[in-house]
Amino acid sequence: MPIDLSQGLEGLDHNFLTGKLEDLVKWSRSMSSWPATFGLACCAIEMMAAGGAHYDLARFGMEVFRASPRQADLMIVAGRVSQKMAPVLRQIYDQMMEPKWVISMGVCASTGGMFNNYAIVQGVDQIVPVDVYAPGCPPGPETLMHSILTLHELIRGGEITRRRGATGAGAGVTVEQRDGQAAPALGATAVSLQAGRA
Ligand code: SF4
Repeated sequence: MPIDLSQGLEGLDHNFLTGKLEDLVKWSRSMSSWPATFGLACCAIEMMAAGGAHYDLARFGMEVFRASPRQADLMIVAGRVSQKMAPVLRQIYDQMMEPKWVISMGVCASTGGMFNNYAIVQGVDQIVPVDVYAPGCPPGPETLMHSILTLHELIRGGEITRRRGATGAGAGVTVEQRDGQAAPALGATAVSLQAGRA
């Protein structure tokens, strides 16, 4: 079967000869996601805590929050999104590298939360495709890290990348709240994308 290099690394999918290379690419993508420096409200304080020494995001290759969206491939929407901020958020998303991912952190980002009014976007999935929803008000660092590890599993599985390329849709996975619990061990998060979510 001829190798289609016109699509870059995505063209190497499902090839007998390059199967291991595809695994390597997916693994390296999952272990090198860099978040954009982007906090909107109180949830951002918990996101900052997750970047501190106690929780040590450096274990997952992502302690450096990038000041430029052009160096980031993960957007953590931490806090409520106002109507005024929505176009700014979308512009930052558009400037991020492909493939890119979105975690919606907290009830405000995911649904508007208690801010059921005209000034707040009632769910950031109206603006950008969301891959993982972290529940809570606010989700603690443990829940955020659970979301991040879930996203890593999704990236390593590969389907999320193909789906994003084909439909532009996010995975839309909701994790459970894990505040106060230890972060799961690497590779311990079993994730499967359910059919029909796109
Ligand atoms: S979910 Fe709670 S902590 Fe997060 S932005 Fe909304 S009010 Fe603040």
